Amino acid sequence: MSKDEFVKATENLKKAVPLMMKNKVATTPANYALWYTYVDHVNPQLNSEMDSILENYGECPPSQAKSIYQKHIALKSETDINELKASVELLVGELDASMTDTINDTSEFSRSLDKSFSQLERVEKESLSFDEVMTVVRSLVKDSREIRHSTIFLNNQLSTASDEISRLKEQLAQVQQDALFDCLSHLYNRRAFDADIQALCDSEQPMSLVLLDIDHFKGFNDEYGHLLGDTVIKAIAKRLSQATRDGINAYRYGGEEFALIIPNKSVRIARQFAESLRRSIEKISIKDRRTGKTVSNITASFGVSEFQPGDKPENIVERTDHLLYEAKQLGRNRVMPL
Ligand code: GH3
Ligand code: MG
Ligand code: MG
Repeated sequence: MSKDEFVKATENLKKAVPLMMKNKVATTPANYALWYTYVDHVNPQLNSEMDSILENYGECPPSQAKSIYQKHIALKSETDINELKASVELLVGELDASMTDTINDTSEFSRSLDKSFSQLERVEKESLSFDEVMTVVRSLVKDSREIRHSTIFLNNQLSTASDEISRLKEQLAQVQQDALFDCLSHLYNRRAFDADIQALCDSEQPMSLVLLDIDHFKGFNDEYGHLLGDTVIKAIAKRLSQATRDGINAYRYGGEEFALIIPNKSVRIARQFAESLRRSIEKISIKDRRTGKTVSNITASFGVSEFQPGDKPENIVERTDHLLYEAKQLGRNRVMPL
């Protein structure tokens, strides 16, 4: 990175951190990259999508942040992350410096305050009028209040920012096995699911949840080996991510189980969506290199349900899981409710 680029990166980081704090955005690497790009104004479409989210929600809910991130940033190369890391380190240095500055300012102020008070004593002895003395006092009080407020505010702000950034630095260091993504399926992972469903439940956001589980998956592992099992998982994940749009997110919920969060859609629409996925999974066929056989009897069972006011994550997950269980009981390769 050249010196100019460093300077620009620092400027962006200084803008991004307070914005993230203001919008109560968790400082995950993904969010960080997202807000960095936002203040950088390099991607007008990302900015206009973010602006409309901020306008509609008043903040940026995790699921929305993630879909913008995935759409505009996730596919960028690793070098971007390294660049980001370098600039974060730079910013941490900068922040330390400005915190020291602030502390110096404060002690300078108290020195000037002392001086003013001794002046005040002197003018009192020289018997200035009460009004004149009060004017001096008032202005001192006002000054000191202002500086105390701004210093406390700034110090809080800086130490929060600095803490957040240090934490972020650690997170960036392990961006690989990171928080949000599952490396086999390239879908969001269980942790991302838990965070998103919690945020959506908290904000009483209308949504439907789809859970799906591959049918007789153990059989593929037993017959063709674990590697082919992995290939089946990847093939299904690919269908899921191809089908996601309009804010729909797909997650690897567990071993051979997946989840889809469908915001703003009724169970009826979500069911249709699940049904089309079910059909698309049926069509998958994979050639097993070892035996030369084609594996094409791949199916999955689905449960679908809709957010009910007051639902906690476990309520909607349990309801959906129960329907998935029914789909298995009724013979698999189907979507419940009917
Ligand atoms: P059902 O139709 O009732 O869901 O049957 P099933 O065989 O799919 O379900 P079961 O829970 O008995 O088996 C799931 C298997 O998935 C067991 C586990 O070894 C396998 N599995 C879990 N994660 C992975 C993975 O990442 N790769 C592979 N290859 N197998 C996995
Ligand atoms: Mg299972
Ligand atoms: Mg299964």
